[in-house]
Amino acid sequence: MHIIVIGAGIVGVSCAYRLQSAGHEVALIDKGAVGMGCSFGNGGAISPDLCVPIALPGMLKRVPRWFADPLGPLVVRWSHFPSALPWMIKWIKEGRDIQKVQANSNALRALHRHALADYREMLGADYAEHIEETGQIYVWQNDRSGPVEILAKTLRERHGVKAERLNAADIQRIDPHLNPIYKNGLHFPENGHTLNPLRLVETLAEKFRMHGGRILNDELVSFSTVNGVARSAKFAKGSYDAQAFVLATGIDGARMAAQLGDAVSIQAERGYHVMLPKPEIRPAIKISNRDHMFGLTPMRDGVRISGTVEIAAATAPPNYKRAEALLTRAKEMYPSLNTEGATFWMGSRPSTPDSLPIIDRATRARNVIYAFGHGHSGLTGAPMTARLVRTLIEDTPPPIDLAPFRHSRF
Ligand SMILES: Cc1cc2nc3c(=O)[nH]c(=O)nc-3n(C[C@H](O)[C@H](O)[C@H](O)COP(=O)(O)OP(=O)(O)OC[C@H]3O[C@@H](n4cnc5c(N)ncnc54)[C@H](O)[C@@H]3O)c2cc1C
Repeated sequence: MHIIVIGAGIVGVSCAYRLQSAGHEVALIDKGAVGMGCSFGNGGAISPDLCVPIALPGMLKRVPRWFADPLGPLVVRWSHFPSALPWMIKWIKEGRDIQKVQANSNALRALHRHALADYREMLGADYAEHIEETGQIYVWQNDRSGPVEILAKTLRERHGVKAERLNAADIQRIDPHLNPIYKNGLHFPENGHTLNPLRLVETLAEKFRMHGGRILNDELVSFSTVNGVARSAKFAKGSYDAQAFVLATGIDGARMAAQLGDAVSIQAERGYHVMLPKPEIRPAIKISNRDHMFGLTPMRDGVRISGTVEIAAATAPPNYKRAEALLTRAKEMYPSLNTEGATFWMGSRPSTPDSLPIIDRATRARNVIYAFGHGHSGLTGAPMTARLVRTLIEDTPPPIDLAPFRHSRF
């Protein structure tokens, strides 16, 4: 088939690569440069073990804190509050219903569990240059026996996730540079991280191009549909015909889906990163600070500090004080970290209320396949998304249940 994939982030590039490998003729079109959307600046974690949704019981109790500290791990911009409210209500509801939490957890695990194996297959001989399978650790300064952690533990156990408990001495043994203030930890030996998220997207795009794939620069405006099928897509510079289209436009997915009759619920959960080019010391392993909800990743070009959630319009100006706050927190963890030459970045996680992406056919055009809404874990979820998109296009049985990813669930 002749297929057009719109959006060249990690999701679109993975879809283009997978469809091309299956013998289709594929063009990849992005309004910007390859990999420069949210996929540019993420924390690089590839986490097959990630099976805990973001919305969990007890969210409502935390609301006052979201407004109190503008530099806290989760904030809502007052000006954006009215537009974000419907999404936030859905998000809180997802967390209140334990059966939904369990179902969302099952779907996340299925989406993520083969991520490293799939990247290995896609990258072939280049795998070791891009991905380290050295595991990840979570650390807490205090006790981690709160209800959220107990639930997270139960969910992980249900899925057979390997998570080893760490005490203060274990943590120091794993990472001697870390300030010895962390008393509790978890080690996930089966997770990994990429050494450069942008290079990973670019490498997959280069492979796609080398095998005859076309990469074009243009902005999707609308689809032209006849009898429930999209015949062509109108872009800013011209129109293109294809037999199928994949909409992998990240945070812009909802707007396009609305044109095709589907009201999906996506909110920008804006995150920040700080890149340290000359850190002098490096975390021994990808590490998450669970008290303050951010992480540090040892990357090829330095150390990346990333995290925080800011509920705001995707287009609103960044508040780099949030990135500075990340830097201060990171210095608490690694006091001898050299912050010279630090650069800041902000990007919008395309987030749904249930932490699951939308992978489905459009209502008004059955040959337009949605592949967006991956929120906090798109780098991890992209390879399985690409497999699912292929089965939707070819009308073959999917490798995992597609029902949790339907757009009509909202
Ligand atoms: C601070 C932070 C840390 C994160 N850490 C991790 C992590 O450690 N592990 C993990 O798995 N995930 C992580 N994520 C999430 C992950 O980065 C995202 O889920 C993922 O990048 C989404 O990929 P995407 O391809 O859907 O979107 P994008 O990368 O945003 O790509 C979408 C592309 O579509 C293009 N586009 C949009 N509209 C149009 C249009 N109309 N026409 C043409 N092109 C269009 C854009 O230009 C863009 O290139 C993190 C996110 C943030 C913000």
